[in-house]
Amino acid sequence: MYCTKCGSELAVGAAACPACGAGLTARFDPVAYTLAELRDAFAGIYQETHALASGYGWQEEVILRLPRARRQRYCAMIIDERSLP
Ligand SMILES: [Zn+2]
Repeated sequence: MYCTKCGSELAVGAAACPACGAGLTARFDPVAYTLAELRDAFAGIYQETHALASGYGWQEEVILRLPRARRQRYCAMIIDERSLP
């Protein structure tokens, strides 16, 4: 992100430009935010489904019927197991 007044590069979350002191206002785009959240959620579902299918041999239909919290918990267990020496 860059300052609209002087063009200096800004740190993420900066409240003011360090070069010229111009105040910054955050712009929130609810549609873009929602789309990004949905994209991340769908990406997560594919990753979770892959991990559980390959880790436990479960079918996709069975995996997708699990509540998300349980899918994530099982995925964490698989990741923990795989990270053991
Ligand atoms: Zn500036």
